[in-house]
Amino acid sequence: MKFYGLDDFDFCGKRVLVRVDFNVPLSGGKITDDLKIKKGLTTIHYILQKQPSQLIMISHLGRPEGKYVAEMSLKPVAQRVSELLDRPVALANDCLSDVPEDEIVLMENLRFHTEEEANDEKFAKKLASCAELYVNDAFGTAHRAHASNNAVTRFLPSCAGHLMQKEIENLSKALYPKHPYVAIVGGAKADKITFIRELGQHADKLLFGGVLANTVLKAIGTDIGSSLYDKETLGTAKKLYADLGKKIVLPVDAVVANKFSDDAESKIVDVGNIPNGWLILDIGPKTIALFKAELEKAKTITWTGCIGVFEFARFAKGTEELAEFLAESEAVTIIGGGDSAASIEKYQLEDKMTHIGTGGGATLDYLGGKELPALTALEENFAKFSRVKEQ
Ligand code: AMP
Repeated sequence: MKFYGLDDFDFCGKRVLVRVDFNVPLSGGKITDDLKIKKGLTTIHYILQKQPSQLIMISHLGRPEGKYVAEMSLKPVAQRVSELLDRPVALANDCLSDVPEDEIVLMENLRFHTEEEANDEKFAKKLASCAELYVNDAFGTAHRAHASNNAVTRFLPSCAGHLMQKEIENLSKALYPKHPYVAIVGGAKADKITFIRELGQHADKLLFGGVLANTVLKAIGTDIGSSLYDKETLGTAKKLYADLGKKIVLPVDAVVANKFSDDAESKIVDVGNIPNGWLILDIGPKTIALFKAELEKAKTITWTGCIGVFEFARFAKGTEELAEFLAESEAVTIIGGGDSAASIEKYQLEDKMTHIGTGGGATLDYLGGKELPALTALEENFAKFSRVKEQ
């Protein structure tokens, strides 16, 4: 894999377009976790030190589906970036509007336009037109071919930022993993299931939690009460279990609640004995022990997606115990994805892991051996511009 890095470019006096991943969680207009912004600042600081004439950041936030949604404005993000940099950051009204003349600019949410996710070339050209160099530091979206991380590279010399490079370097350790390789997969995003088949080619064991485990349990005929599961992927889940069942470890017990709330009534029951109307919000002690027995043997461990509703203290035990177990493990430990990374940060175990990533889907795709369109674009850009240099 060959693409340009930050050190290959001279940013001094140039206008630099940087694709960042500032897709942070918001509640009531306030940022609830700014980890992604903090992680992205290493690249921003680096470029600013080189004294560019202008630094223009672009990012998406949430899923506004091609239209303006006030709650998904990057306004609070611009404010937070400004506080962390201790410098003014101007927010442009729209990602296609004229770029304000300020030294540091954040363009408004890319996904207010359908062209972004459609990888539209004209849209990408317009984005690129405000700059002379392009940097992609948004690993979280690297598994998608979008205008701001793929088509845009057709118009500007392009390189990877620090975060992107670090992700690839560290994830490569699990691409050729030392065995046994155990992958923990949880979380709520249904689309994860499509990545697991590939992951299953590499991993020796797959430990399932969260909504994913519920969906697989339901698909194989287990009564999961009123637990959240994904109807659309039930068929895929059934097939996955039929093909990879020997590798998959499912929860055998669970912490169940009578409602989805931190103050719900709760109890521990075996999977299959969930009272009517109750829902699984965490794995139980037998499952924790079962998972630990697998993790103990592992030389490589990856973890994407939380295995319970860790945001509610009473349903965080499974996530917390596994996080602590991984922190003590001598295996290569790679945490991918927003919420699993956030849980590790919550328990202050960041330093005890080999790598904490910023993108769940991108991590799973990369570990499954799939091409990441954003990286392919950087590689093609490198091939194109290094040829130009040689001439
Ligand atoms: P993801 O973004 O796919 O990594 O999903 C993370 C989210 O999954 C977290 O916000 C968890 O609260 C949620 N989650 C984990 N386990 C469950 C569960 N059993 N029921 C509902 N949500 C869950």
